[in-house]
Amino acid sequence: MFLKNKKVVVMGVANKRSIAWGCAKALKEQGADIIYTYQNERMKKQLLKLAEPTDLLVECDVASDESIAQAFQTIQEKFDKIDGLVHAIAFANKEELDGNVSDITRAGYLLAQDISSYSLLAVAHYAKPMLNPGSGIVTMTYLGSERAIPNYNMMGIAKASLETAVKYLAYEFAVDKIRVNGISAGAIKTLAVTGVKDYDQLIKLSEDRTPDKAGVTIEEVGNTCAFLVSELAAGIVGDIIYVDKGVHLT
Ligand code: NAD
Repeated sequence: MFLKNKKVVVMGVANKRSIAWGCAKALKEQGADIIYTYQNERMKKQLLKLAEPTDLLVECDVASDESIAQAFQTIQEKFDKIDGLVHAIAFANKEELDGNVSDITRAGYLLAQDISSYSLLAVAHYAKPMLNPGSGIVTMTYLGSERAIPNYNMMGIAKASLETAVKYLAYEFAVDKIRVNGISAGAIKTLAVTGVKDYDQLIKLSEDRTPDKAGVTIEEVGNTCAFLVSELAAGIVGDIIYVDKGVHLT
């Protein structure tokens, strides 16, 4: 177990299909203690079904600086230091995941960038003083940042921004021996993905392009996440690792 006694904050479990849940399971398998953050009471209800009774569950709506500050203060009071952070959060309005990108509204653009990209910088800011040397921060991105995937639209633009945020954060945090990386996951049927118009085609496209025609699982993404959080990945700084069963190859 390569994360024994390590404390890792996992942000973004909505239900048992969530990529963040795949990450939490893998981190736990490697011995980590998980601190979960949830967006709102509705998400908390789902999380309570999955977390262990002793796990710390903290509300954190990344749309609010006060909420983020409060969440990390609560975590600090309980644990003082942490050894990792998993950011698996994104949001865009349905209208921005359909039709023409030239119709994206200013408000829709800002909202998607705020929740899906800026939030990584915001949580990194509050987590920074608490992260032990050797810690890893991991976020989740998708191939739609690099290629025009039908209807992914606004989220592709936000993911491009997120991936560049990973690089700049990684450069800053590496001085303190904290690594920042991203995982570019293949398409998986989760709550977030159902916001994309014709999302079943997005998933089918992904599955069809894997050499063995089977899409990636949250467990496979989770295992890579556990590795990236851990010091086994000490030499990986500011990278985006594909965990998509080879979709990006074709
Ligand atoms: P999900 O719906 O299970 O998780 C999305 C999470 O974002 C939810 O827990 C939700 O509560 C959280 N969130 C949204 N707005 C928030 C806010 N204001 N404050 C706090 N939390 C907020 O879906 P998922 O697919 O597991 O998404 C996790 C990450 O993985 C996202 O960044 C997503 O873009 C990325 N990703 C998903 C896929 C896929 O195909 N599912 C592929 C690649 C990357």
